Amino acid sequence: MTLFPDMCNAFLHESIIGRAIAAGTINVECTDIRPFTENKHGRTDDYPYGGGRGMVMSAQPIYDCYRAICEKRGDTPPVIYMSPKGKVLTQQKALELSKGDGFIILCGHYEGVDQRLLDEIVDEEISIGDYVLTGGEMPALVLTDAVCRMIGGVLSDDECFTEESHFSGLLEYPQYTRPPVWRERDIPEVLLSGHHKNIAAWRREKMLTETADKRPDMLENADITEKERLFLTNYINKKKDFND
Ligand code: SAM
Repeated sequence: MTLFPDMCNAFLHESIIGRAIAAGTINVECTDIRPFTENKHGRTDDYPYGGGRGMVMSAQPIYDCYRAICEKRGDTPPVIYMSPKGKVLTQQKALELSKGDGFIILCGHYEGVDQRLLDEIVDEEISIGDYVLTGGEMPALVLTDAVCRMIGGVLSDDECFTEESHFSGLLEYPQYTRPPVWRERDIPEVLLSGHHKNIAAWRREKMLTETADKRPDMLENADITEKERLFLTNYINKKKDFND
């Protein structure tokens, strides 16, 4: 539910998500809130009670929009309000939503939405990070993309996301493509060896070191073996000695 469906549709017609929608693998629809307003001037927002800057999205058009979607679907799916006050989106949350029966996203704009509407229909608030954007459309697309790419048939190969950053609690290994030498930089020899076991071992090691280098905070909860923890301790100590 948005006041700016064109912003969303521009994204939803492109690339992997666009193809999945066109093929009917997933169903994503943007519903314009504006036609639902009962205001004779077509307004969907009003001044905040108590004064202050900006405008607040009114409850009535959003509620009627929500009812129309539920009627069309024949059920009352959970409603997620994209909000900087929400819980920050994680891969785990996206995976959980990808396994459900669908949901409605409410995109706020201006100063936000009348709290009474949020209290009436919203099940959950999700943020895409600790910063404030002008509207919920980009956050809604971020959530849609993160969820949809984990639905079977959207990506060509399910491996595409199970080995990626964050899925297992680690960051992904570095990726290379042709040519084998570019500006005198070559690629790790093991990747040319054709030896699948060694390649898998190299990738796993790189996942551990990438995470230790870039997001050491993730290691605490990562799914890694005792042997790998020992390897990481040595790696981190060696790096420390080198920097000293
Ligand atoms: N006045 C609000 C506040 O201080 O919390 C911010 C409103 S913001 C300018 C307008 C809309 O953008 C919000 O209602 C929300 O839908 C969306 N938005 C902004 N930042 C967001 C974020 N980090 N994550 C998710 N949605 C966000």
